[in-house]
Amino acid sequence: MALTNDYLKRVYDGLAERCANEKEFLQAVEEVFESLQPVVEKHPEYEANGIMERLVEPERAIIFRVPWVDDSGKVQVNRGYRVQFNSAIGPYKGGLRFHPSVNLSVMKFLGFEQIFKNSLTGLPMGGGKGGSDFDPKGKSDREVMAFCQSFMNELYRHIGPDTDVPAGDIGVGAREVGYLFGQYKRLANEFTGVLTGKKVGSGGSLVRTQATGYGLCYYANEVLTHNGSSFEGKTVVISGSGNVAIYAVEKAQELGAKVVAMCDSSGYIYDPDGIKLDTVKDIKEVRRARIKEYVDVHPGATYTEGCSGIWTIKCDVALPCATQNEINEDSAKALIANGVQLVCEGANMPSTPEAIAAFQDAGVLFGPAKAANAGGVATSGLEMTQNSERIYWSAEEVDAKLHGIMKNIYKACVDAAEEAGKPGNLAVGANVAGFLKVADAMVWQGTV
Ligand code: NDP
Repeated sequence: MALTNDYLKRVYDGLAERCANEKEFLQAVEEVFESLQPVVEKHPEYEANGIMERLVEPERAIIFRVPWVDDSGKVQVNRGYRVQFNSAIGPYKGGLRFHPSVNLSVMKFLGFEQIFKNSLTGLPMGGGKGGSDFDPKGKSDREVMAFCQSFMNELYRHIGPDTDVPAGDIGVGAREVGYLFGQYKRLANEFTGVLTGKKVGSGGSLVRTQATGYGLCYYANEVLTHNGSSFEGKTVVISGSGNVAIYAVEKAQELGAKVVAMCDSSGYIYDPDGIKLDTVKDIKEVRRARIKEYVDVHPGATYTEGCSGIWTIKCDVALPCATQNEINEDSAKALIANGVQLVCEGANMPSTPEAIAAFQDAGVLFGPAKAANAGGVATSGLEMTQNSERIYWSAEEVDAKLHGIMKNIYKACVDAAEEAGKPGNLAVGANVAGFLKVADAMVWQGTV
């Protein structure tokens, strides 16, 4: 689909000229704009209020130097970012990513997506994202701590429990959040819920670690059950072997599926008898090692170098949980040829536009990231509530709230898709439902 609405086309073309080298950001904006055409036509007040022009400009983008000393005594310098995209419905909220591929385009695409995702959760959270091109892989704990402390030395003046509340993302797990939180506490001299994903017992919420993966499966299960199916007996492929992937495997297995493949950025494992998650947790969570070690413990499994081959494995359900654009058109076609019924996105923007079009043309059920992976930030929102109230909920309470939020998100997507004249198109539904609340808040608040 191309942009036919004059207003959206004008805004997009201007953005494409100003941000010509920000390809991930432009990809994310174009996908959202295509969905919003009927909405913008129905609501002339959005053009009158310059909503789209404002929506694509971050309220603030901070870029800073992060110097730190490595174990050999050498000074290293990385680049830090925090993109505070939109605070119309609440404090900025979104993770921090530490990965060599991080640049302004990646930060802006993630921050932009976060606006709609956070809106979909029904909780009062604006959109933001941050991170650095620092690679924690292969670094000692001391080096990671030195980097995190230096990163926070700048970031702390821009965030706060009512201003901006970062969390984890690729390369930022419990260890990194701990070092970041410790340094914030020292600098600000306060113990507040300024980061989420904290350790349980130090302000963290139960189930936050599992929330994105569990939430993804709750959402996928809604899609399946409303289409007369379920996870029971399904063969599932899940890419990645990080936080999202591991807990997606756990929940999919609990719901009766057989997960046969996972990967890291080096290659993928295939275990026709079903992945033994304890082994993966030991490799990735405890030893921070490579996924290929799985076949040393389970000789019935195979390891293949390179990641894209994972999508050639026959499956009923595919849950991409690694990174952006990991499923291209060829991978989508391979999945379709093998009879995939549902693709549900755990990672952010893991399917290219061509891949999404291929799934939709083939009638494959498709759960878009900003709805399907919203369980993580939703539970971060629940962590913020618990921090503010200074009380803690049981795992059962948090899990029940997460489950309820994912069901509500699914229903919001279905209803909004229907209203936009695209019944069953959850990608359109997620964009429209997420957008309307933010746009109306922006109109209400005037030109800010
Ligand atoms: P982790 O760092 O815990 O895990 C990332 C996983 O993806 C690792 O297995 C990593 O392999 C793999 N990976 C990273 N880059 C690539 C690549 N270029 N090609 C192939 N594999 C790659 O991150 P998360 O699990 O937290 O995040 C995964 C995705 O989910 C991201 O898109 C993130 O934005 C999204 N997400 C995360 C949320 C959360 O709560 N954590 C919430 C919502 C979305 P390796 O170890 O080799 O690097």
